[in-house]
This record gives sequence, structure tokens and C-alpha cells, in this order.
Amino acid sequence: MNPVLYQGIQPGGQLTITTEVENYPGYPDGIQGPEMMVEFENQAKRMGADIRYGLATKVDFSVRPLRVEIDEEKWIQANSVIISTGASAKWLGLESEQRLNGYGVSACAVCDGFFFKGKEVAIVGAGDTAAEEALYLSKICSKVHMIVRRGEMRASKIMQARVLKTGNIQVYWHSETDEVLGDKKVDGVRIKNNETGEKTEIPVSAFFVAIGHEPNSGIFKGFLDMDEAGYLLTVPGTSKTNIEGVFASGDVQDKIYRQAVTAAGSGCMAALDAERYLSEKELH
Ligand SMILES: Cc1cc2nc3c(=O)[nH]c(=O)nc-3n(C[C@H](O)[C@H](O)[C@H](O)COP(=O)(O)OP(=O)(O)OC[C@H]3O[C@@H](n4cnc5c(N)ncnc54)[C@H](O)[C@@H]3O)c2cc1C
Repeated sequence: MNPVLYQGIQPGGQLTITTEVENYPGYPDGIQGPEMMVEFENQAKRMGADIRYGLATKVDFSVRPLRVEIDEEKWIQANSVIISTGASAKWLGLESEQRLNGYGVSACAVCDGFFFKGKEVAIVGAGDTAAEEALYLSKICSKVHMIVRRGEMRASKIMQARVLKTGNIQVYWHSETDEVLGDKKVDGVRIKNNETGEKTEIPVSAFFVAIGHEPNSGIFKGFLDMDEAGYLLTVPGTSKTNIEGVFASGDVQDKIYRQAVTAAGSGCMAALDAERYLSEKELH
């Protein structure tokens, strides 16, 4: 086959903005995210992938071959398309949050919780993911300070009850993050009670943001089925979308696991599904 990969605005994807990756198989000592992605790229190139700069700006999946517009400039054609456009974590938008990103600020407790074993950490968010991540952190960290904007959580009743009965999770209701504190790394968070205006500083070693993710699926609206949050829907156990020959893998279709190894695994499924589709149609 002749796979062509367009990389979009973040070549290498989300792992290029992290430091140590400890949980990808094959790296017993861990590896820096950007370094790992260079290795992935070199391996794909060695196998013949044609890796290009460019952003897919529009698609037309109503015709054969399928059509993808690149950089609003040119249209390319393909017999099959695999979508792996990922998902982006939502951030609060504070300058300190951005400055300390990777130095104690993280949007992934499962990825980074381990680095703060035995320490006090904070987490902001109130949905099911935030509740799950707070519970996960409570097993690793000595104390979890959970910052919740309203007087209740959006998380399901069961998740909320589990959080509230966990001894080392302290919930701060009606609270917003005023500032993440620290010069070179996180050493605290200042929160503000949005009812009383009172500000409190909490010493913590890490600040986890769990206010949701946004799948990068906007350009596929109108062609591909997606859930209410915009995650692409695939036939369970496969990478098949509702359009024949179009497959989806990685975080853009996975709102549960969102890990490098699961993204890579589903990418492998998509490659095999695409190869079988092309063989069946005698297109390669
Ligand atoms: C800070 C951080 C730390 C993390 N640490 C870990 C960890 O330690 N271990 C772990 O397993 N997971 C970790 N993760 C999660 C992991 O990075 C993701 O699960 C994984 O990268 C998902 O891979 P993906 O290929 O689906 O998407 P992404 O990595 O998001 O890649 C998407 C790619 O699609 C491109 N793209 C998007 N839109 C377009 C378009 N329109 N046209 C062309 N290209 C486009 C982007 O430029 C990007 O290259 C971390 C995530 C973050 C944010």
C-alpha cells in the first residue's frame, strides 16, 4: 500500500508536549515523549509511510475515491482514509497553568499521577472523569484536593458518593482556581470561593486539570456519526465508521482509555481494516 500521512499542526501528537512516558511497553527506563515520537516516525518511514506537513481542512466522503482538502489549497484522493486526529485536553486558560504545564500541571492523572507518589496534589473538575481521576490519585498520593466550581458534581451519583467517602480526598465546593503557584514547578494552588470571595492557598506538588477533552473531529461533521461530545463512532470491536472505507483510531474515537498504547493498538486495527477493505474491493 502507499500510505500518506498528513500531520496537522502538532506533528507527533500529544506526546510531544509531555516529558517522561513511563507506561509504553518496550521502554523499561521510560522515555521522553518527543524522543519517542521521533522513533515512531522513523519506524513508519522505514516501512514506507510518506509523511507530510499539512492540515486536512475539509473532506468529501460522498464520492469515490474519497477526497480530503489540504491546507485549504489542494484536494487529494484516497481509496481509504484512516482518521487519527486525536483529542485535545481542555484547559482553564490561566497563564500559570500554561507556564507550569509538564512541571506539575497535567491533564492526565493516569499518565502522570505516579510521579507524585506519596505527595499532596490538586485536581480541578467535577465530571465522571474528574471523579475517576481523583479516586485514582487517592490510591497513589497522600492527599487529593478536589476543586469543584458548583455546590455539586456533574459526575454520576455513584461516582460522587465514592469520592465523598474516600478519606484522603478533600472537596472544595463553590471554588475556582485563581492561580497555580510555583516558579519552575508547581508548589501550590490558590483557590477562590465564588460565593464568599475568600482566597485560600493549598500547598501541592501537582495540579491536574480534568475538565474534559475535545475530539478533533469538526471537519467530519455531516459525514461521520459522532456522539454528542464529537467523538467519532465506530462499529464496536472494529475501526469502521458509518462510511465504507473510512476508519477511525486513537483518541478521536476513544473517550475512555486515551492512552498511547491503546491509540497505537487501535491504529493497528485501522490499518488492518483498511488493508482488508482495499483487498476486498480489489483496490490494491
Ligand atoms: C501532557 C500529556 C501527557 C500524556 N502522557 C501520556 C503517557 O505518559 N502515557 C500514555 O499512554 N498516554 C499519555 N498521554 C495520552 C496520549 O498522548 C494520547 O492517548 C495519544 O497521543 C493519542 O494518540 P492519537 O494518535 O490518537 O492522537 P494525538 O496524539 O492527539 O495526535 C493527533 C494527530 O493528529 C493531527 N491532526 C489533528 N487534526 C488534524 C487535521 N485536521 N489534519 C491533519 N492532522 C491533524 C495532530 O496534529 C496530531 O499529530 C498524554 C497526553 C498528554 C496531553
